[in-house]
Amino acid sequence: MRLATGSCVIHNGQLFDGNGTPCIPQGMLIAEQGRITYAGPAQGAPPKPAGASVIDAQGGTILPGLIEAHFHPTYFNVAALEDLDIKYPVEYVTLLAAANAKLALECGYTSARSGGSLFNIDVWMKKGIEKDLIPGPRLAASGREICGVGGLMDWNPDFRKIGMEGLVLLVNGPDEARAAVRKLVKDGIEWVKTYPTGDAAAPDVNDHHTLCMTFEEMHAVVQTAHNHGMKVTGHCRATEGIKNALRAGYDTIEHGTFMDDEALELLLQRDVAVVPGLYFELASVERGKEIGMGQKVIDGHQETLEGGAESCRRIMAAGGRLGMGGDYGFAWNPHGDYAKELDFFVKYVGLKPLDVLKCATRTGAEILGRAHELGTLEKGKLADVLVVAGDPVADIAVLQDRSKFIAVMQGGIVKAGRLTRPGWTGNS
Ligand SMILES: [Zn+2]
Repeated sequence: MRLATGSCVIHNGQLFDGNGTPCIPQGMLIAEQGRITYAGPAQGAPPKPAGASVIDAQGGTILPGLIEAHFHPTYFNVAALEDLDIKYPVEYVTLLAAANAKLALECGYTSARSGGSLFNIDVWMKKGIEKDLIPGPRLAASGREICGVGGLMDWNPDFRKIGMEGLVLLVNGPDEARAAVRKLVKDGIEWVKTYPTGDAAAPDVNDHHTLCMTFEEMHAVVQTAHNHGMKVTGHCRATEGIKNALRAGYDTIEHGTFMDDEALELLLQRDVAVVPGLYFELASVERGKEIGMGQKVIDGHQETLEGGAESCRRIMAAGGRLGMGGDYGFAWNPHGDYAKELDFFVKYVGLKPLDVLKCATRTGAEILGRAHELGTLEKGKLADVLVVAGDPVADIAVLQDRSKFIAVMQGGIVKAGRLTRPGWTGNS
């Protein structure tokens, strides 16, 4: 991705550096050639570089670009799971995914980790974004997901003879699990996304307490993926599935819903980050009826919501790490609502805004494996910055209001926000 050729100064706002500590009241950020050269108090800051463009934060907040840690670019706000795979051809879904990536950037998300994609759309979209062909978050790609035959993602009955070709690789046993990962190696993905457990969405045969892969299959996935320098994550609701994943060597856990003491202990031993994606459950409970979910499904989402919230509180209290990401891409939880996850974690789960902001920035970068260059506002890091006319620490909901975004910056270049409107010329 292109870096700014000039320099810029952002001033007149408080500065949240991503580490979870209170904001610096009168902060300043200086970026040169796309990298941060200073982030700290305005008083005592180095002189403004010659020719620097100046961004006025208007008494608002300067913070790191947000990181969406569970992003499904190809989920096009579907009303039914089946639509994810077969409603449209891959050509059209690619265009929809590009629109979702642009939207995510406009929502202040400068980086994202894919949580699974139709075919390899995310792999090639990442390339398009890196080459500046299309706007979007810096992306880590997952490609197709892996699930056991008959598991959560294997929903097409055999008589339809359509398989699950676009969305998942279905496996029986460790040999097939290894073969699936080897295919993903050739596809060029970075994160192998698996389905160790079911979900409230499938109450009859694959509910949230059901296992959808064996430990042996999961272990084979991890061994093969790690051998090739790839990381592994998985959709883990059921307690035993979480433990299987942690024992098998998973690098992160998606959801981590029903954690008992032993699961938490295993999690903390290796400091594995969890991406709860939990607002989705509240959205499902609140809007389930209107979109035609059965009562059994809604009840399952309610149980998941409560169990997940409690697990998140325990993980944070024990010093664990959460990433913010939200399974957006369903009719009742559409793209563009990404920051609702942050608001939910403050108002429903009860975490402190500073902690949630750290989860959405620094921890996100750690999950991406890019903490050395992203996630905090510190000297030497890429100037991926969000400038907001408001105070997300006082009211985190301001991050849902794009009209309040002064600038969304990647590598020192303003890509979205008020400053990209015609007439502003400092974007170089
Ligand atoms: Zn997901």
